[in-house]
Amino acid sequence: MTDHPEVPTFSTAADFFAQALAIEVEASERYTMLADTMEVHNNREVAEIFRKMAHIESLHRDEIARRAEGANVGDLPVRFSWLGPDGPEATDLHDTHYLMSAHHALLLARHNEQRAAAYFAAIAATSSDPDIRAFAQEMADDEAEHVKWVDEWLKKFPPPPEGWHEDPDPPVFSD
Ligand code: ZN
Repeated sequence: MTDHPEVPTFSTAADFFAQALAIEVEASERYTMLADTMEVHNNREVAEIFRKMAHIESLHRDEIARRAEGANVGDLPVRFSWLGPDGPEATDLHDTHYLMSAHHALLLARHNEQRAAAYFAAIAATSSDPDIRAFAQEMADDEAEHVKWVDEWLKKFPPPPEGWHEDPDPPVFSD
């Protein structure tokens, strides 16, 4: 399975900013959705975590939008969206049972933070534009930091007991 986006190539800086913007918009929206879901399930602590992450990703989004100013990114196609840890076919992100557990919501976040980090790192490693390389590296470092945060929260929210839903083999990440 492909669990990170293909290594992107950019013909222009505008194309890079369009993709980067899409990543951060998606992340901010997903974290808001996860926070809402956790609130519905009365998990205020994790809801709070996700609200903070939504805010952090929205700051990235605003920073990218600021840097992209003048570059016409609005009309460019974007190719990024959150995927479930089991791969694109296995998880319907709108299937709420998947998100009822804080643990699984965190796994979903971790998976996509990892994808974003890999995406930006690939750009940092391959872009011919030094400004884009530097900025992409900054973004890659930030997203890698988010992965570490999620790992810490996962320690606090271990997998729910067997049989919490019908999935006999829930995804597990460990280091
Ligand atoms: Zn992030």
